[in-house]
Amino acid sequence: MSMSILILQQAVGKNCPNRPDDVKSIHKCLMDIGKIPCYVCTGAFDNTILQGIIEVQRHFMLTPDGVISVGGRTQGFLANWKNKPISPGVQLPGRLREAWDWVDPLLPEGSYCSSGYRSADEQRRILHNFFLNTYRIQIIAKYGQQQYDAVKANLLANESKVLEMVRGVGQAIAAPGSSMHQKGKAVDIGGPSAIDNKQVEVVKLVAKAHLDLLSGKVLKERNGCVHFEIR
Ligand SMILES: [Zn+2]
Repeated sequence: MSMSILILQQAVGKNCPNRPDDVKSIHKCLMDIGKIPCYVCTGAFDNTILQGIIEVQRHFMLTPDGVISVGGRTQGFLANWKNKPISPGVQLPGRLREAWDWVDPLLPEGSYCSSGYRSADEQRRILHNFFLNTYRIQIIAKYGQQQYDAVKANLLANESKVLEMVRGVGQAIAAPGSSMHQKGKAVDIGGPSAIDNKQVEVVKLVAKAHLDLLSGKVLKERNGCVHFEIR
């Protein structure tokens, strides 16, 4: 699936002008993204195209209206529709995958799935990496070299101290064993910080359309990820 140029003269959908060229553009687009089967379009609006538009809108609308307005939200998402990469090793069991699949194609270019389910050991590895690498300088600046070294001497035994210091420099992180990632209920979206706000906006929109699946909790993590949770 690749980005396509989607130009409409007038609205396409239920009770719309449905100009043949516009209908053909939407038909091609819906085929490209796999929302409708492949067939030859005469330029006439039909029920398959309507259902395809509704399938697209189900990603972000609680009640799809089956209408693509010129310059509207549906056209915008459709024009930039693209499945994003999932980082190697990321696990999205069960409903976590379902949640990602609703959010995924709407996310801005440059987004990727950076985390899903994590075991307690993985969570611990992330915590240690924050302590030893990502925030080492900030932690030393705040707590002093001596205290840093004392905690570093036994990370496992000093886990509550490690947590306190990582959190103390502004990085929110759950204690190993208690993270929503370990419960299989959280996804992290990576990408350049310039698109963080757009990512948050997309997840909030999807959450409103899938109240039974997404909890609506979305937050920007200091490490640059946008984190969201399912119920
Ligand atoms: Zn997260």
